Amino acid sequence: MRSKRDSLKGETCEHCGGLLTDVTLTESFRVRGRLIVVEDVPLGLCTSCGEKYFPAAVLKRVETMARITGPRAQVPRAPVLPYRRRKTAT
Ligand SMILES: [Zn+2]
Repeated sequence: MRSKRDSLKGETCEHCGGLLTDVTLTESFRVRGRLIVVEDVPLGLCTSCGEKYFPAAVLKRVETMARITGPRAQVPRAPVLPYRRRKTAT
């Protein structure tokens, strides 16, 4: 079932050219105006600058999850706050 493009390990960062590695993190996504927090998201992390890259399959799955979960799913058990202020783009 696993897509061959799930892993970004070995890809290079388009910002600094560093190598990406596979990590799983708790991430928030804005899907059609709704903010959802997803735990254990597999993504590629640049080992040099820390830039995050989400495989297309992951973004697709998050969008599906946002569709099938109720409005309550927007609220995590505890507030998840970004340590650094994020850009509010998109
Ligand atoms: Zn980088």
